[in-house]
Amino acid sequence: MARGQILEPFEYEPPELKEHDVRVEVTHCGLCYSDVHAIDDYFGITKFPFVPGHEIVGRVTELGPAATGLKVGDRVGTGWQGRSRGKCEWCQRGEEQLCEEVAHNGVWEPYGGFASSISVDSRFAYPIPSAMPSEVAAVLLCAGITVYNPLRRYKEDRPMKVGIVGIGGLGHLAIQFAHALGYEVTAISSSPHKKEEALGFGADHFVLAGDKDTLRKQELTFDLHLYTSHSEVDWTTLSLSVRNNGRIVVVGFSTVPVKFEPLELIVHQQSISGSFIGNRAMMGEMLSFAQEHSIRSRIELMPMARVNEAIERVKENKARYRIVLVN
Ligand SMILES: [Zn+2]
Ligand SMILES: [Zn+2]
Repeated sequence: MARGQILEPFEYEPPELKEHDVRVEVTHCGLCYSDVHAIDDYFGITKFPFVPGHEIVGRVTELGPAATGLKVGDRVGTGWQGRSRGKCEWCQRGEEQLCEEVAHNGVWEPYGGFASSISVDSRFAYPIPSAMPSEVAAVLLCAGITVYNPLRRYKEDRPMKVGIVGIGGLGHLAIQFAHALGYEVTAISSSPHKKEEALGFGADHFVLAGDKDTLRKQELTFDLHLYTSHSEVDWTTLSLSVRNNGRIVVVGFSTVPVKFEPLELIVHQQSISGSFIGNRAMMGEMLSFAQEHSIRSRIELMPMARVNEAIERVKENKARYRIVLVN
């Protein structure tokens, strides 16, 4: 396929396994908004012909000479990051998701998970807890780690209040993780009809994104807002609700620039930060935590042959809440 085009059948020789690689026969692959971005080359790093897919679960069928910890037949999953060079400052520090070669670390190098098999560095292929359904695991490998990492990293040992901004593919998982981590959770959405579901996922409160009055009444009370959406919010109102030393973490690719009044940031020492997936240790922890706390994405299963239809559903914001393609 070419940039922005619909996907077409594509045949290629399976790439030779590198030293640490395993080959994985793909059974399930989630469809993430980042796949749509990658198809459109939004990040400017896509090489065509391109095979998307980075929420992959399947069985190990072959091991490279130095692959360790896995055997043929193991059920494993891999997310956005399929490898790293392991030599740069960030890899050495255990923050391999920030590897200097990040553009070459995607699991689609050379071809991603909308395929019958992939090759991936065994150190980025995670054993899936045996009781966890494969489609549940698939979604956790990108959406799950994206929201778990900041919620876990900024959790302190005291009662804390978090706002989950946006209740979509990321947000509905974030509510569940935040609840299980012990936060008091407020779901913030522009869709009033999502209230009941948000409370069902574990939110303690629901606030309409445009409801400035309610948010302003909660001035200086939130420790953390996790922005998981693609759409515009009133950043100034959000910022007014954040406590001293609190923060807003952005994990959703907003389609409009993020704009802040500096005053609140300064006088309340607030931070705005981004967060990108997570390292390998956090990935393992997230999968166990999700299993232990029965965290489950709401999933629509579709056959891989209907991938273009699935992409349309995601583009039109109709997926509730994630689509997993099945081979
Ligand atoms: Zn993703
Ligand atoms: Zn590196």
